[in-house]
Amino acid sequence: MSDPLWFDPALCLIGGKWLPAASGGTLPLVNPSDGSEICQIARGGAADIEAAVLEAETALDGEWGRMTALERGRILTRIGQFVLERVDALAAIEAMDVGKPLTQARADAVALARYCEFYGGAADKVMGETIPYLDGYTVYTLREPHGVTGHIVPWNYPMQIIGRSVGAALAMGNACVLKPAEEACLTTLAFARIAMEAGLPPGALNVVPGLGAEAGAALAAHPGVHHISFTGSVRTGALVQQAAGGNVVPVTLELGGKSPQLVFDDADLDAALPFLVNAGVQNAGQTCSASSRILVQRGVYEDVKARMAAAYGALTVGPAAEDLRVGPLISARQKQIVEDYLKQGADLPVAAQGAIVEHAPESGAYVRPTLFADVPEDHVLAREEIFGPVQVLIPFETEEDALRIANATDYGLVASVWTRDGARQMRLAKRLRAGQVFLNNYGAGGGVELPFGGVGKSGHGREKGFEALYGFSQLKTVAAHHG
Ligand code: NAD
Repeated sequence: MSDPLWFDPALCLIGGKWLPAASGGTLPLVNPSDGSEICQIARGGAADIEAAVLEAETALDGEWGRMTALERGRILTRIGQFVLERVDALAAIEAMDVGKPLTQARADAVALARYCEFYGGAADKVMGETIPYLDGYTVYTLREPHGVTGHIVPWNYPMQIIGRSVGAALAMGNACVLKPAEEACLTTLAFARIAMEAGLPPGALNVVPGLGAEAGAALAAHPGVHHISFTGSVRTGALVQQAAGGNVVPVTLELGGKSPQLVFDDADLDAALPFLVNAGVQNAGQTCSASSRILVQRGVYEDVKARMAAAYGALTVGPAAEDLRVGPLISARQKQIVEDYLKQGADLPVAAQGAIVEHAPESGAYVRPTLFADVPEDHVLAREEIFGPVQVLIPFETEEDALRIANATDYGLVASVWTRDGARQMRLAKRLRAGQVFLNNYGAGGGVELPFGGVGKSGHGREKGFEALYGFSQLKTVAAHHG
């Protein structure tokens, strides 16, 4: 086992106890920076999910279910404090597990703490209403937890995604069963330890690592689960929705995107440039809200291309521990997917590529960040999510052209507009098909407070911000007739 781990990673958390998978099975966890095995994790399956759901139900019937919103909030806030105290340790684990450069891994750990603080503070501020009604009635609404919530988490931002989904679910009094990704689950296990240390009652959070087709599928289909939050691929999201549909259970799906940035002739290019590039290469492009399409108006197209090309020329790729701008991809499999896309771009001009440092291990999952220029709007690289450090530059003539191209994918997660024209900002903010629109910025610093989610194949439902608290609860109407 590698040094940064202060816990046994081969266990599931079920009902407050750390247990091996019922089958005794384990899976290897691989360090994407050099392909070495970090450790073994539990290969949880249907039996472990069954046990976890039962323990979650027990928690709802017990101390956790009876706890006031104020007390739940205090525990979440304490978890946030404990996470903040462990930011460097969590960042080191995440860098090893996901291949994230240390600075990016650290930012994720800080965001996890912030989610706990935000939802800790919000837990006792979600209120029902009284409704004016017929003479002789008093009517009011109650916000209640769903009950047992299932959380299926991918490998790209484990800490941010557990923060936003488990944080909100716990704030509303649900009991969670969490299935982290088989490629990266160490910070999830660390977080669960921290949550227990901070006083989260047994069974309020259960963690069952394992394969998607085993533990994940069992969780999605379990009749004792009352709500599912899924982040990952469209294909798996559709499977999860189908399985949950069998139990008539609501699902929140966050499935990625092909998010555009629209750069107009009047844009402040100095302000735009860092966002244009960073939004494509952060986390090696393995970000659901990555901006993989840069649409540029003709008048500044050559200028933007030259500036972005220069920025790409300065990008270095290497082991996560060296904290360069770009780390490895999550796995050899993901590298193969991205390289296959790069081959499909063989007919396109390459404006620039970043460089892999010479001493990067051959066995690491490294690809060169690549900027393609003059990309036709219907090219496969302009339509499909690549999930790697690849961006396409697409020229446009008019605002209508830009809008048509921006909206011409199946996805709709995030979009941004760079222009000094206020009327254009307002027009496009309304007409862009996306769950979030940014004006003269991209991502607004990740905003824990900002509701997030997609339209179309980017998914449905909203997480983050106060809005998530509505998603992780249901409304009950109480009508009293008193004459
Ligand atoms: P995936 O969607 O298969 O995996 C995401 C999570 O779902 C993991 O925890 C996995 O174990 C689980 N899962 C897999 N099969 C399942 C099933 N049948 N039932 C229930 N859960 C299941 O994604 P992946 O295979 O890891 O990555 C493939 C592609 O997905 C990537 O190339 C990328 O395009 C996309 N992706 C998107 C995001 C995002 O943030 N939107 C995150 C990761 C991957």
